[in-house]
Amino acid sequence: MNGETLADLALIDGKIYTMNKSLACAEAVAVKGDQIIKVDTTEEVTYLIGKDTQIVYLDGRTVLPGFIDTHIHVADFGRFLMWMDLAANSISQMQVLLGSRLEGMQPDKWVVGRGWNETRFTEKRLPTRHDLDVISPNNPVLFYHQNGQIALVNSKALELAGVTKATEAPLGGFIDRNGKGEPTGILRETATDLVWKMVPEPTLDELVDAAALACEKIVQAGITSIHWLAESAMDVQILKRLLEAGKMPLRVYMVIPANLLSDSGLLEGLEKGSAKIGGVEVCADGYLASRTAALAKPYLGDAQGSGKLTSPQKDLAASAKNVVERGFQLVMHAMGDKAVDAALNVIESADDKGRHRIDPAALLNPALIQRLKKAKVVVSVQPLVAVSEFSVYDAVEHLGEERARWLYPLKTLFGEGVCVCGGSDCPMEPLNPMLGIQSAVTRRFYPEEQLSVDEALQMYTTQAAWASGEEKVKGSIEEGKLADFTVLAQDPHEVPISQIQDIAVEMTVIGGKVAYSRN
Ligand SMILES: [Zn+2]
Repeated sequence: MNGETLADLALIDGKIYTMNKSLACAEAVAVKGDQIIKVDTTEEVTYLIGKDTQIVYLDGRTVLPGFIDTHIHVADFGRFLMWMDLAANSISQMQVLLGSRLEGMQPDKWVVGRGWNETRFTEKRLPTRHDLDVISPNNPVLFYHQNGQIALVNSKALELAGVTKATEAPLGGFIDRNGKGEPTGILRETATDLVWKMVPEPTLDELVDAAALACEKIVQAGITSIHWLAESAMDVQILKRLLEAGKMPLRVYMVIPANLLSDSGLLEGLEKGSAKIGGVEVCADGYLASRTAALAKPYLGDAQGSGKLTSPQKDLAASAKNVVERGFQLVMHAMGDKAVDAALNVIESADDKGRHRIDPAALLNPALIQRLKKAKVVVSVQPLVAVSEFSVYDAVEHLGEERARWLYPLKTLFGEGVCVCGGSDCPMEPLNPMLGIQSAVTRRFYPEEQLSVDEALQMYTTQAAWASGEEKVKGSIEEGKLADFTVLAQDPHEVPISQIQDIAVEMTVIGGKVAYSRN
């Protein structure tokens, strides 16, 4: 056999879930360049191994098509990573963390952190500014509580914010004080803004570095492609900078807000390739948790409040028309049943019968599901947001049993053949796709809507590829497709379903290159 047909990379002796139409399994896969050239038994693939072939001995481990996260905010995730993680068991441990963070830092730089919780502290008390002052007399410090509603700040931060004994707390906020009326360093609710507003915006350079770190974490989670939901022009600039610097290991399908469409200079150079702008989001309503999702009937206990469409139907249709005419995928944010109805009206009347998407199409009913099916609309959900909707927000209390039954009816959608793809909504929810898969399989609310492990995997592979019109090149392990793989330490079909989230990612392969290896 000549060198031209030999593999550059071979993964052998594993359990390869191809996720192809018949959900077939294989033992080995061979790669040439960035493409899969053989999916077969180890014996067959061995014929393609030459002296220059990189061999990965899987030793029975599981290989899946590279995970695709269809809803992630990379720039925000980067910002989140810039903050200190304060999961400390004591105030003194938090002081040690602060001390090491300050090493080599300029004295005027702010230090921001998140995640402390006094109930975990061995000292069994709330920390004060003095606890921070002894470590950081010069750098202003702002540490958010795990609940996000309380902040601990040092004296320098109070000084810069002009908060003194005489300062009154803003409406809806509270400043903790000692016996002499002096602030202790604990600010609550709206009072946290007194200091937060003093923290300077990060520079573009800082945001680019943070986003690069975010991308590393995403690759380590076994993800090979992302649908990056951009919040503003800054996200597009960050993506361009990452590409220029060669710091974008992932395949990127960016979804931009509709207001950026007019800025053609901004979008230039991102029309095609492995990092491109693919979709444009048109927003039809808000969110259930803030009661801004548009409902056909009012929220429970609020005869007046049923949420509103963000714009009248004809304006939504005009925005959508513009998106489709410009050649982008239409991604409509619609959460309440009224908004999903409006989004479907827009899609049904569009001239273009392209592949449109509704995100997250949370509150449905049997009639809406039939319309989603008929119009072949992609439903983009974030399984961990769905869990929060029931557990944190308590959908039953806000919507009533009858409607809550049709909140995220994933199994029904699968049964009807609607394409459902999965994303994390990181950093609002954890990044780990195994956790998203587990939550779709184990949901406790309306358990008749639980997915099988294979269905949940499809949300992050085949269906996710279809969602962006890339099913011919990714989403399954088949000859001719891109060599994007996720190697797992255990088989998600074989561990107890409550332990899927703990399965370690051993290796991430993107375009035939090992982008991450645990060892
Ligand atoms: Zn989001």
